[in-house]
Amino acid sequence: MTPALNFRAAVLTRPGEKLRIETVQAEPPRAGEVLVRIAAAGLCHTDLEVIEGQLVYPMPIVPGHEAAGTIAAVGPGVDPGRIGQRVVLSWNPHCGRCFQCERGQPILCERYVSQGPDAVTFEGTTRLTLNGQPVRTMMHIAAFAEYAIVTSACAIAIPPEMPLDRACLLGCGVLTGVGAATRIAGLRYGDTAMVIGCGAVGLSAVQGARLAGASQIVAVDLDDKKLAIAREMGATHTVNARTADPVAAVRIITAGRGADCVLEAAGNETSFRLSTESCRAGGEIVWLGKVGVNQDVSFRWGALMGEKRITRSSYGGAQTATDFPALAQSYLRGDLKLDGLITQRIALEEINRGFDDLKAGRAIRSVIVFEE
Ligand SMILES: [Zn+2]
Ligand SMILES: [Zn+2]
Repeated sequence: MTPALNFRAAVLTRPGEKLRIETVQAEPPRAGEVLVRIAAAGLCHTDLEVIEGQLVYPMPIVPGHEAAGTIAAVGPGVDPGRIGQRVVLSWNPHCGRCFQCERGQPILCERYVSQGPDAVTFEGTTRLTLNGQPVRTMMHIAAFAEYAIVTSACAIAIPPEMPLDRACLLGCGVLTGVGAATRIAGLRYGDTAMVIGCGAVGLSAVQGARLAGASQIVAVDLDDKKLAIAREMGATHTVNARTADPVAAVRIITAGRGADCVLEAAGNETSFRLSTESCRAGGEIVWLGKVGVNQDVSFRWGALMGEKRITRSSYGGAQTATDFPALAQSYLRGDLKLDGLITQRIALEEINRGFDDLKAGRAIRSVIVFEE
């Protein structure tokens, strides 16, 4: 049996406080689990929600849910041949047998949904301790650490030549955005897509629209630098909503109809309203952003009329076991662009500055890179 491990992790003790780098202790992986040496982890808005207290979890907790690394050890029942595999981690463990899993929606897995708020492993226990006290595991990963213990099915092998600092992005932001465009929205060749918000998810939705064959892709943001990156990712038109009206812009290029599909990835009341106003009659709206769970959002009733379909998606209809390797192959072929999403690479000790940059809108993705 592998001996207990001590390693560095970013621990949040109370919402609103800074993360502290502590040495935590972990038991070896149990049956069905693997120990992953984290190589890179991205800083995502959902982590920021936990740090700021909008998303409530028990504390202390290690956040982080967008990561890639190498399998260092396996628990009983897991093929030891997996040791050394390079993997991207999924934050959606699922039982495969419940009502929702049987219906093909692992994101709604009843066990996953019921255990999520406890921030424990998928087996229902805490596996990390700090000074003898249990530490919680955000989204079944706790990626802001040198190691993570995850259920084996959530450590998904990718081609060995895939660089891990870019691979980590596939784990949350990229799959959410690409999947929303290619799978949830069901974009068709020649469609006009509009993407509101050009953070990591929105820029990935732009790419998903391009990969799905959309002929016109309108990217909307408040920051010209992000709009310039959207063009690199495949946007054919960009609109800075500070200075131009996105609804008018999309109508001009669609003979007045509006976009076939609107992907909302900004997460505020204005962007949700804009998504309904910009969509053509009979079109699709996919909401990826979020506001506080108790916040009301209002709409103009007329903007909802016309057989529009609205879907709220949190992981882009992820089928992670096949999506991660496919996305990695797409990157290696040069189709999926990831380098432009990384604003900076930082050390674990710089994590609080990284979140300051995310909050201020200065960073698309800051990626923590661990020594391999
Ligand atoms: Zn299930
Ligand atoms: Zn995320």
